[in-house]
Amino acid sequence: MVARIVPVDPFDLVVFGATGDLARRKLIPALYHRMHDGQMPEGARIVGVARAKMDRDAFRRMAAEALDEFGGEVARDTEIRDRFLRTIDYVPLDVTSHEGWDALKAALPDGEGRVRAFYLSVAPRFFGDIAQGVHEAGLTDAHSRIVIEKPLGHDLASARELNGVFAGHFEEHQIFRIDHYLGKETVQNLMALRFANALFEPLWNGRHIDHVQITVAEKVGVEGRGPYYDGIGAMRDMVQNHLLQLLCLVAMEPPSHFEPDAVRDEKLKVLRALAPLTDPDALVRGQYANGPGCPSYLDDAERGASNTETFIALKAEVANWRWSGVPFYLRTGKRMKSRVSEVAVVFKCAPHSIFPAASGRAAQNVLSLRLQPDEAIKLGMTIKEPGPGGMRLAPAILDMTFADKLGASNMRMPDAYERLVMDVIRGDQTLFMRGDEVEAAWAWVDAITARVDDEPPALYEPGSAGPDDALMLMHRDGRRWRELVQQ
Ligand code: NAD
Repeated sequence: MVARIVPVDPFDLVVFGATGDLARRKLIPALYHRMHDGQMPEGARIVGVARAKMDRDAFRRMAAEALDEFGGEVARDTEIRDRFLRTIDYVPLDVTSHEGWDALKAALPDGEGRVRAFYLSVAPRFFGDIAQGVHEAGLTDAHSRIVIEKPLGHDLASARELNGVFAGHFEEHQIFRIDHYLGKETVQNLMALRFANALFEPLWNGRHIDHVQITVAEKVGVEGRGPYYDGIGAMRDMVQNHLLQLLCLVAMEPPSHFEPDAVRDEKLKVLRALAPLTDPDALVRGQYANGPGCPSYLDDAERGASNTETFIALKAEVANWRWSGVPFYLRTGKRMKSRVSEVAVVFKCAPHSIFPAASGRAAQNVLSLRLQPDEAIKLGMTIKEPGPGGMRLAPAILDMTFADKLGASNMRMPDAYERLVMDVIRGDQTLFMRGDEVEAAWAWVDAITARVDDEPPALYEPGSAGPDDALMLMHRDGRRWRELVQQ
């Protein structure tokens, strides 16, 4: 099977913060790959903007280096590479100044009627200046779009303020709030599995599902981001956005159409149905200590003391008919045993066993969707052990990645940013968060952080599965976390 290319009309993409980490690691390679796959139309214009004073050629050299480092094997195609580099321009501009906007306008002549997207790959403190700057420079019209990255505020009040900044210059349908987890193939496949198959939906409720586990574990610590991360922590940095978005996709009702507002309305209902998390036993906060050859969080953050958590585990409840009695266990942490992100839907045991004890026990069925390190969908089943040894039960994994059907062996798995950037150009907001979703998630998180921010987190060993209390969170319920290994 060949990846289908949906053509788009020539567009303008202005990347603010074009010399930064995100632009170099993700955006430039993503745009190159879209050109390589034939989706970048003739006449598309990409303009990098950043504070650094350099000319177009110097920026193109920087973009070429980014492709060398992060573009993979296909970035070595010299013909496409030259064409790609010729497509990009650069305008030095300090967005806090009133100077320089004319140069940006001059770089984008005759843009009437074409889609023009402004990608804000800069710190949020610049968002207001840029929204105003592009507006005052006369660079915006009804076809303009603005793309923003997390953090979308650090609490409900700041998220509302940010939404207000954009609402002053753009309509909601022009604002694209990225959560790159939603651009991952497996996450979109979760919706296909649920809503394009009759098999799972009848089982997708508290009568058949025992619990859901959502894990985002990282091996790295906060490294160079330490001073920024301190005072933010895992709850605001990961749970409020990525983990709650994944929870929404598991828990939402089927939307009437696969259309942006229909999908986002259903996700919003889930966020509003989250029961306040008030049970102190339902939340565990941790901070990595030092280990052999491994600095502690306090060392990384350059702090003498800090109550910021680098690990969180919690039990959430979606208080509605479908999910009554089904816990959603969420955990995320840094400096953990391995890098694993997955959603696991754990089904109830078969109600009665017809097999003798000697056959062994049937394991619970688990539908697991892995996002990292490799994307995969697997269904844990119980089968008869092959051979003449009588009826012995054995666990088996049904690999639902369908590699042969999807041609995964010879087809490159696109990065989430490739999909998301082109969705911006197409004007499809289905995989982007709406302002009210972001605010609802903050409202739930704020109530928790207000209660626990001043409490010291439990220390945990680097390379572990987090503090012991996190294991107890599950053990008390007679359950256990899935192993932090590639399964
Ligand atoms: P960075 O610090 O590496 O880059 C910042 C960019 O902003 C640089 O190009 C810099 O020149 C530009 N800049 C700074 N001040 C400016 C000014 N006054 N005028 C014009 N340009 C200015 O940051 P980053 O890691 O690339 O992150 C960018 C944004 O994306 C941040 O909001 C960050 O939270 C978010 N984000 C980053 C990542 C990532 O993987 N790096 C992931 C998710 C979200």
